[in-house]
Amino acid sequence: MEIKIVKTTTPGEMPAEEKLGFGKVFTDHMFIMDYEAGKGWYDARIVPFGRISLHPASTVLHYGAEIFEGLKAYRRADGGVQLFRPMENVKRMNRSAERMSLPEIDEKDLLEILTTFVKMEEKWVPKSFGTSLYLRPFLFGNDETLGVHAVHRATFMLIASPSGSYYAEGINPVGIMIESEDVRTVRGGTGYAKCGGNYAASTRAGERAAKKGYSQVLWLDGVERKYVEEVGAMNVMFKIDGEIVTPKLTGSILPGITRKSCIEVLQSLGYTVSERLLSVDELVDAMESGRLEEAWGCGTAAVVSPIGRLAYGDKEYVINDGKIGEITQKLYDVLTGIQWGKTDDPFGWVYTL
Ligand SMILES: *Cc1c(COP(=O)(O)O)cnc(C)c1O
Repeated sequence: MEIKIVKTTTPGEMPAEEKLGFGKVFTDHMFIMDYEAGKGWYDARIVPFGRISLHPASTVLHYGAEIFEGLKAYRRADGGVQLFRPMENVKRMNRSAERMSLPEIDEKDLLEILTTFVKMEEKWVPKSFGTSLYLRPFLFGNDETLGVHAVHRATFMLIASPSGSYYAEGINPVGIMIESEDVRTVRGGTGYAKCGGNYAASTRAGERAAKKGYSQVLWLDGVERKYVEEVGAMNVMFKIDGEIVTPKLTGSILPGITRKSCIEVLQSLGYTVSERLLSVDELVDAMESGRLEEAWGCGTAAVVSPIGRLAYGDKEYVINDGKIGEITQKLYDVLTGIQWGKTDDPFGWVYTL
C-alpha cells in the first residue's frame, strides 16, 4: 500500500524511562486514513502528531461507533524491535469492526501500517526490560449527520505511547471486587468486540470498586449474574484444587491474546486448562474451603496480574496468602522472556521488524 509521509519539524525527546507511566507521552507522528462507502480506504498518511478536527455531528460523538486495539513494540535484549502476535490484533480488529458495522481493513495492509509506523518511531521504543512502545490503533464512524444509519464515512488512526514497566515496584497482587449490580455486556451484545462503549459502561462499577480500595471489578455474566466472565480489562484464570480454569468464550467475553497465549504456554508445559463456565458460587465455595490456590488476570498491559484479595458482598477472601502463585510466576517468566526477546520463541509468536 502507499503511505504518504509528512515528517515533523519539531521532534520530541524521550522522557527518562523510569518516569514513563502509561499513555501520557506520545511519539512524533500518527497514522491516519479515511474511508468512504463505494471508495474504500484512501489517503493513508503518517503526519506529525497533533489534534484532529471533527464535524460536531460526527457519528462517533453521538452513537459511539468506535473500536480499538492495544499491542506493544518491545525492545529485544539484542537491541532489535519486535511485536508479539500482531496478526491476532489485526484479525480481532476486523472482528470488532464487523460487529459494530464499521469497515474492515485488509489484513496485510493493517500489518504493514503497524510495521511501517513502528519503524518510523523506533527511537520511541524504550530499552529497559518491562517498558515498551504501546500501540493504539482505533477506528471510528465519521459521518457528518445526526441521522442514524450504517456508517458511510470512517477514519482509522494509529498512535503510540512509550510506556513504563507495569511492575516498576515489583509484582504486587491486586485486590478485586466481584460486581453483582452492573454488567459489562450480554451475549449477543458487544462483549467480544474491543469497543469504547464497553469501557464507558463499565467505568461506574470500576469507580465504586476503587472507592472501596479495589483496583478492578470481576464481572459476572449479564443474564443470570452467576458465571464469572473477566476482570476489568483483563481475562481471568484460576487454579482450583489443581485444575486450571478460565471462563469459556461465550460471546460476552473479550477473547484476549494474552489469555490465548497463557493457555498455549500452559498446555506446552503439560497442564490442562479447562475453558468452561465457572459460577461465582463454585468460586466462593473454593475460597471458603481453601481450594482456590491461585487467581490471576491476563492482558497485554500487565501480562499477568496476580489477584491477592477477592471480595464478594461484604466478605473478602485472601488468595495464596496474598502472594503471587507458582503458575502465575511461570506464565510471567515465559511470556515476558519471549516478548522482550530474552529467551527463544518456540511458538513462533514474535514478529521481528
Ligand atoms: C483488551 C482486553 C483484554 C485483554 O486482551 P489482550 O489481547 O490479552 O490484551 C481483556 N478484556 C478486555 C475487556 C479488553 O478490552
